[in-house]
Amino acid sequence: MLVEQKKIDEAVATIIGFGGTGILNCVQCGACSAVCPGVKAGFPLLCRNLIRSLLNGQLEEIIEDSSSWGCQACNRCTEVCPQGVRPQEVVFAFRRYQANELAFSTSAVTSQMNLYETGHAVFTDPKELRRQVGLPEVPPTSAFNKQAQEEIQALIDNGPMGELGLF
Ligand code: SF4
Ligand code: SF4
Repeated sequence: MLVEQKKIDEAVATIIGFGGTGILNCVQCGACSAVCPGVKAGFPLLCRNLIRSLLNGQLEEIIEDSSSWGCQACNRCTEVCPQGVRPQEVVFAFRRYQANELAFSTSAVTSQMNLYETGHAVFTDPKELRRQVGLPEVPPTSAFNKQAQEEIQALIDNGPMGELGLF
């Protein structure tokens, strides 16, 4: 087996192991990139481009790229993919690989701090808006549940993210 093929196999196995299980079904049609807000916002390594790099075995070459942290998890890519690849899961698999290797984008610091403190990567206090539409001010989420927050913090503290010393 060529060294290059071994490298490709390792990259694909790594991404599948982190949850990007549909990666090998990609036919590079580009439908996902055409609807991806992250791509439109200028993050080059999402959807088709990310999958192409991974299928070329370039896991180490792209590890420092911050594009994966620009994914909004909107799943438009998942809806349009004719192959059932679920590109968002490939993006998140790559993000998990990056986090596991401590290749952590500075652009993600705020969202990680939010996650640690509230259980939500994007968090704004909803009380006023909920009051305006007649809902109870406090929603049943980890942001208002001390025990859930402590469990989230224990998970983060004991995983690779905890080694970053951010929290
Ligand atoms: S839409 Fe699906 S098959 Fe087409 S490039 Fe994206 S992931 Fe690959
Ligand atoms: S889920 Fe992420 S990769 Fe997929 S279209 Fe939305 S922003 Fe792009």
